Amino acid sequence: MSKQVRVRFAPSPTGPLHIGGVRTALFNYLFAKKNNGVFFLRIEDTDQNRFVAGAEEYILEALEWLGIAPDETINKNEKFGPYRQSERKHLYKQYADLLIASGHAYYAFDTAEALDAHRKQHEEQGKTFIYNHHNREKLDTSLVISNEETANRLANNEDYVIRFKTPVNETLVLQDIIRGEVKFETNLLDDKVLFKSDGMPTYHLANIVDDHLMQTTHVIRGEEWLPSMPLHVLLYRAFGWESPEFAHLPLILKPVGNGKLSKRDGDKMGFPVFPLEWKTEEGVSSGYREKGFFPETVINFLALLGWNDGTEKELFSLEELTQVFDLKRVHKSGAKFDPEKNKWFNHQY
Ligand code: GLU
Repeated sequence: MSKQVRVRFAPSPTGPLHIGGVRTALFNYLFAKKNNGVFFLRIEDTDQNRFVAGAEEYILEALEWLGIAPDETINKNEKFGPYRQSERKHLYKQYADLLIASGHAYYAFDTAEALDAHRKQHEEQGKTFIYNHHNREKLDTSLVISNEETANRLANNEDYVIRFKTPVNETLVLQDIIRGEVKFETNLLDDKVLFKSDGMPTYHLANIVDDHLMQTTHVIRGEEWLPSMPLHVLLYRAFGWESPEFAHLPLILKPVGNGKLSKRDGDKMGFPVFPLEWKTEEGVSSGYREKGFFPETVINFLALLGWNDGTEKELFSLEELTQVFDLKRVHKSGAKFDPEKNKWFNHQY
């Protein structure tokens, strides 16, 4: 029997939920419902510097308003309390230690100044500084330290980070449900930090450990995370865990220029980029709810910005979407608004 489908929406509480994030949540929700699976919410709040008060509450309220609230609750007293990484921080260090013990990670003591100096030195030679164990041994001998020196520095309580030891000379040929085959050269990857000197895991470590422990079967997330896919697959491999399947969703793009649609673009084009109003000291950003839109309309609009059912049908209820949704029909290209024609189209790169 195949495993129960379990998918998650894993926002970082760094501000109000953008419609791009809402669409990621929606596609996860639809995929879970279509497959009789579970859709859960995980708040990725390990980066305390980027934490914004009120963002988590906003995310929950927006998902509830839209009718796509998560299924699972960790705290039965809350209506749909999410998993919070900050409440699980005691968990992650032991996994970083496991990777050290198995030779898949190492302690690094470089100061920010030393790293800057290396970066600068490379730039002067017209090269990009890749912090990769392989390159470190070849190029940056001053960054390489012996096991004995590592032990001494640890004994002296020096600040350290734990970095992943990226395998050398491999071409990874990976499958993405939306993009198909994607290839990465491991020699071009940085040895990413997994555990920080402040005692917190980085996004990468916490994300992989949690997806494993929470039995995530499919990682459905924005395309901006595609460059992290090789590291994540390598981490699953290093731990000896089965990797979930991956689907990287195309972005909702700026009407003019490159990059993701921003609040300012929305203001210029006359539509909100947030589901609900967001108030800060600097002012109020409008939301679809306060502008009088029905949640069903917003859901229908967002579903069709990046997916279609192969027919001309343009009006779907959430229930209907749940029945016909298929990840394989998600577009590969980003959605872009054409201000002259006043309509959305699929942007070909
Ligand atoms: N915390 C990441 C974000 O805010 C989640 C990436 C993922 O889904 O793996 O986009």
